[in-house]
Amino acid sequence: MKTWRDKVRKVVPYVPGEQPKRKVIKLNTNENPYPPSPKVKEAIMEFDTECLRRYPDPECMSLRSVLANYYGFEPENVFVGVGSDDVISMAFMTFFNSDRPILFPDITYSFYSVWADLHKVKYETVAVDDNFRIKKEDFYKENGGIIFPNPNAPTAIYEPLEFVRDLLDHNRDVVVIVDEAYIDFGGQSALELTREYDNLLVVQTFSKSRSMAGMRIGYAIGNQELIKAMNDVKFSFNSYTMNQSALLMGCEAVKDDEYFKKTIKEIVATREKTKERLTALGFECTNSKANFLFATHQTRKAKDIFELLKSKDIFVRYFNLPRIDNYLRITIGTEEEMDALIKALLQIL
Ligand code: PMP
Repeated sequence: MKTWRDKVRKVVPYVPGEQPKRKVIKLNTNENPYPPSPKVKEAIMEFDTECLRRYPDPECMSLRSVLANYYGFEPENVFVGVGSDDVISMAFMTFFNSDRPILFPDITYSFYSVWADLHKVKYETVAVDDNFRIKKEDFYKENGGIIFPNPNAPTAIYEPLEFVRDLLDHNRDVVVIVDEAYIDFGGQSALELTREYDNLLVVQTFSKSRSMAGMRIGYAIGNQELIKAMNDVKFSFNSYTMNQSALLMGCEAVKDDEYFKKTIKEIVATREKTKERLTALGFECTNSKANFLFATHQTRKAKDIFELLKSKDIFVRYFNLPRIDNYLRITIGTEEEMDALIKALLQIL
């Protein structure tokens, strides 16, 4: 009977944080609380829809050039895609084709296992220690590639560049992907190491520090051979990944460095202040270098706090997963949003 059903590709999809329709205090998907650069708004107002008749540049040269110029590389070192999710998916397809399993931490961005399953890539997870630190020695064993976020998500913990260098020194024959979605909030990027290590791919996004999650722009920087290989894969099934408006708005956002730095500074200041206030309320937070805090309460269960906050229209993220099921991931919002969070927590606790 119904034979086509037996042939349907079965995957366990990634479950993103809730996007409620009504207005709530939304601290559950690590979006930026501030709008994108005013330059982006100006560009949207002046956007000439006439250009939409044409296909966009499949090479995405405008945005690649602006990013290359900003970070001191050549456009040939830059790959752009529809959010870093798309970029990482493309990297999985391009680089993870070994019989050996790829490695990533057991507590990390939960999309990695989804992509591995989707692209039929074998993987093994490597346990982080009791303080959620990634143990570099566990990545010395033979593998088909490595990926980890730095800072890690949802733990928010950053590993210094010596750590990345050590992983690279022990893994010269496979591609190592460092997912730097949150790097602008306090860590030092591994971008410079791409000049030394031809097997390092650094992935970043416009979704967090550049306030453009809705525009869907991500990019990877690495050795030109790596980038060409990714472009070859992309051109083999979908040449026009980036639309005209995304290319234009992306360029404008990168050019406004002053605004970028100003909003990051505000978010980092709010993060440190919120951490202090949470600690005073009996929470323990990891040393966050991201735009979110990873917090556990000394006496109250994370799940209960999550639900009580939700009933007050404050959304944070709770993961019902082994080892982290007593933690909350709280995105840093505006000062006012964090005031509302603390007020609600005072009532709940
Ligand atoms: N990597 C990590 C670690 C993330 O947390 C996210 C955001 N969910 C992404 C990548 C993807 O971000 P985007 O596709 O919006 O660039």
